[in-house]
Amino acid sequence: MKIGIIGCGQLARMLALAGWPRGLSFSFLAGPQEDPAPVTGLGPIYRMSEGESAESIYEGLGRPEVITTEREQVDVALLSALKAFAPVYPEAHAVSVCQHRAREKQFINDQGIATAPWRPIDGKTDLIALGHQLGWPLFIKSCEDGYDGYNQWRLNGPDTPLPEIPEGVECIAEGGVAFERELSLVAARASNGKVACYPLTENHHTGGILQHSLAPAPSLPEGLQAKAEEMARRLLEALNYVGVLTLELFLVDGELKINELAPRVHNSGHWTQSGALTCQFENHVRAIAGLPLGPTSAPQPSAMVNLLGVEPPNPVICPDAKLHWYNKSVRPGRKVGHLNLTHSDPSQLHRQVEELVAVLYP
Ligand code: ATP
Ligand code: MG
Repeated sequence: MKIGIIGCGQLARMLALAGWPRGLSFSFLAGPQEDPAPVTGLGPIYRMSEGESAESIYEGLGRPEVITTEREQVDVALLSALKAFAPVYPEAHAVSVCQHRAREKQFINDQGIATAPWRPIDGKTDLIALGHQLGWPLFIKSCEDGYDGYNQWRLNGPDTPLPEIPEGVECIAEGGVAFERELSLVAARASNGKVACYPLTENHHTGGILQHSLAPAPSLPEGLQAKAEEMARRLLEALNYVGVLTLELFLVDGELKINELAPRVHNSGHWTQSGALTCQFENHVRAIAGLPLGPTSAPQPSAMVNLLGVEPPNPVICPDAKLHWYNKSVRPGRKVGHLNLTHSDPSQLHRQVEELVAVLYP
């Protein structure tokens, strides 16, 4: 089967690497300015031009039998138009819900699932009054084009200078949540409707970017995994979703609130490459190819450490770590690779993660 992937980044790379052993082949759609280095050598790369028709893109991709996207910020109109030529998973509607923070939060709340308290805002909104109402710190987030903390402003209290939100940028305000931990759930839904979820993962960020993850998230309240899976199932079904969807979660007073959804494989699921019986990339590929999902359990504790603008460490430091390098050039803060670790003893694993983080980010 031929699979077309929109995007040429590391997620596309790892999807293809997971599909190759099954005999699947891949082609990649590069945007007009996109650097395709991460997928070079993994299949044909087609560079689209601005305003090119869906039919011509479909032909350029070598007439794939199914099409998917590695990224959330994809042209939804293109996804819809490509559907005339091949099935597209996840579908345009699901991606469009996730692309827009207000739409996404409304959708989550409509399924009876909690988020941080939020409101749409505009230039006339009294942010101080809203901060008192929703709770400090108040987060202002653009509805679109926000990622890794970009297009996001934080007001710590009524005395914080008000941010200069660029003209015409649609935003929401969100009350701060005093979370105990940040977790995520990577869930997959097959075309026959079967859902499989990975163990909840604990995520640690620096400067708004994921630095490392621990999985399964250690010492969770009893029943939390089942609650998270129930949320995922409800959302996946409401979206009639096929493929991997990720829930970014806050753990607050022992309960879960959804921060946001990612309609794709996720950085916090990279540990599954070493730590789960089937990795998130293979399960996404299986789902969109109409194959049954593989088992998602984790035989032993795992961790993932991102390489953010740094070269891989000397292998002597952590010989057991599995390196995934994305073939990108190193620039400050850029995600250029990650390391996966597993260990039967969680305390040993956590020590290795601490050592690695200390070496990479002194
Ligand atoms: P990414 O692309 O990395 O997911 P993003 O730009 O989409 O980031 P969010 O996930 O909304 O932004 O927020 C980034 C981080 O800011 C969160 O992981 C969390 O640590 C913090 N944060 C965001 N919203 C809140 C909130 N309401 N209360 C407390 N912390 C928050
Ligand atoms: Mg986020």
